[in-house]
Amino acid sequence: MKATVMYGAGDVRIENVPDAQLKESTDALVVVTRAAICGSDLWPYKGMKPSDVGNRMGHEFIGIVEAVGKDVRKIKVGDLVAAPFAWSDGTCEFCQEGLHTSCLHGGFWGGTKLDGGQGEAVRVPQADGTLYPLSVSKDHALMPSLLTLTDVMATGHHAAISAKVGPGKIAAVVGGGAVGLCGVIAAKRLGAEQIIFLDRHADRIALAKEFGATDIVSERGEAAIERVRSLTNGLGAHSVLECVGYDESTHTAMSIARPGGAVGRVGVPQDERMPVAMPTFFRNVTIAGGPAPARAYIEELLPDVIEGKIQPGKVFDFSGDITKVPDGYRAMDERKAIKAIIEF
Ligand SMILES: [Zn+2]
Repeated sequence: MKATVMYGAGDVRIENVPDAQLKESTDALVVVTRAAICGSDLWPYKGMKPSDVGNRMGHEFIGIVEAVGKDVRKIKVGDLVAAPFAWSDGTCEFCQEGLHTSCLHGGFWGGTKLDGGQGEAVRVPQADGTLYPLSVSKDHALMPSLLTLTDVMATGHHAAISAKVGPGKIAAVVGGGAVGLCGVIAAKRLGAEQIIFLDRHADRIALAKEFGATDIVSERGEAAIERVRSLTNGLGAHSVLECVGYDESTHTAMSIARPGGAVGRVGVPQDERMPVAMPTFFRNVTIAGGPAPARAYIEELLPDVIEGKIQPGKVFDFSGDITKVPDGYRAMDERKAIKAIIEF
C-alpha cells in the first residue's frame, strides 16, 4: 500500500510500505477514504533531523472498516469511522473522565511503529474505544467538516473550553491556522459576545469573520497587546485561545488575558519556559489546555456539523489524492494553503 513517510525537514515522500494488517485481537483494519495534513505535521516538516527509516505521517482520517480482531465488539466490518488523533481504549480511568489523550493504554499515530492516517490503510489499536462510527455515506457533502472532528475542530473547541468561553464573554484567538479558525467557531458556538482574532493573512481573516470574529488584530508583539487592550476597555479578554505554540504567540496570549481570565493552550509549546509567569500570577489568570480529547468531543460537536450549524470544513483550501501530499505540506508551510484534505 502507499503511505506518507517523512525522512527529514522538508522531505516528505509517498512510498510503498507493507500492507496494514491486524495484529492484536482489539485491532481494526481501516481503509482510509479521507485524511488531512495538520499544522502540527509542519513542526517536523520544519525541523526533523534526517532519518534512515523515516516516520509514517498523518493523524486525522476517516475510513471504512475492512476487518476487525476477535475481541472487537462495537465496531463492525463496513462501518464508516472517524479516527481521533489519539487512540484510546475508552474504558480506563482517564477515558471515563473524558480525557482520552491520557489513556493508560492509548497512544498517537504514525512514527516508526504504527501506521499513519496519510496512507491507504491503517491498523487501528483499541478499535472499540478509538473509532467513532459515522452514519453517513463515505462521499457525503459534509465529509470535510466531519474530518475536522478528528482534530482541528475538537482542538479549537478544547481551547475554548480550557479558556472558559461562555455567554457574554470576550474571547481572543491567537493564531489563524485551521485550529485558530475552529477556535473562532467554538467561541461563537459557546456564546462569546466579542471574538478578537489575531492574525495577518487576508484569507484567514476573511474566514474568521465568516465564522464569527468581531474584531481583527493584525499587529504583533506589544502593538498587538495594546490593540487588544484598547478593544476591551483596557482590561483584556476573559478567554484567550492560544492556537500556535510559539514563544511570541504564547507571550501575547498570556499578556491579553484580563484579571481572573483564562488562557486555553492548544498550540504545542515550542519552548520549555512559560512566558509572562509573574504578571499572570498577579492577575490570577488560569492557564489550561493541552492535547484535546477529540474522542470525547466528537459526540458533542457532531450534531452541529450534521445540522449545518457549524461548517469547520471550510478551513480546507487544498485538496488532492495521495500523490499530492508533498505539495500539500509545501503549500501549508509556505502559507499558500490553510489546510489540505487528501481524498483516496
Ligand atoms: Zn483509556
